[in-house]
Amino acid sequence: MKKTEDAYFLQGLRNQLVALLKEKGITDEKVLEAIRAIPRHYFLDSAFSKIAYEDRAFPIDADQTISQPYTVAFQSQLLKIKKGEKVLEIGTGSMYQTAILAALGAKVYTIERQQVLFEKTTAFNKVFGDQFPDVFFSYGDGFEGLPEFAPFDKIIITAAAPKVPEKLWEQLKVKGMMVIPLDESETAQRMLRLTKKKDGLAKRESFEQFSFVPMLQGKSQS
Ligand code: SAH
Repeated sequence: MKKTEDAYFLQGLRNQLVALLKEKGITDEKVLEAIRAIPRHYFLDSAFSKIAYEDRAFPIDADQTISQPYTVAFQSQLLKIKKGEKVLEIGTGSMYQTAILAALGAKVYTIERQQVLFEKTTAFNKVFGDQFPDVFFSYGDGFEGLPEFAPFDKIIITAAAPKVPEKLWEQLKVKGMMVIPLDESETAQRMLRLTKKKDGLAKRESFEQFSFVPMLQGKSQS
């Protein structure tokens, strides 16, 4: 991640992106405002500056991807974040989704299993430290969550999950919500919003299909 000039034409492209996301069905004004406010090109190599505002996923280090803006907006909208809520994110990746969550007023705890990506998270504080002091980065296996900071109001998983991770479910507050792309086939995931009921069971809402990189066990140092 790198802070570069946020040129006027890039702000213009961001406005166009917001218009496109509206057309695609994103209605939450706070989410649209966050997309408008956060320069996505900071999270990509400078070679990608101009195309950072296309509604596409792009490769980042360690064979991972920065999620498509529509996906980021869709998941963020489902979370219904209120200011000050504690949100656990699995899959820090480029930190773009992390920044959007912070812009929505969340206290963000985010976990990445790829060491090379985790090491890059020091750049976040340099760029956004003053604006978003409540972001905590962790290197580890997202299946384990962060019990020391639990319980969380919301949990967002940004990789294709083979199942609902039990330990994460335990770390969610009653009435809390988990947004999770759950494997439906080898290449597609169904976006689910699971709300924790008093009895600990889930109210399950099902949305459209998406395609994510897989959620993998353990940490990776390669
Ligand atoms: N939110 C990111 C999406 C990155 S892609 C963004 O906006 O850029 C998904 C990320 O999840 C990858 O970086 C991948 O390494 C990470 N990941 C996969 N399995 C994980 C796990 N078990 N724990 C933590 N991170 C995981």
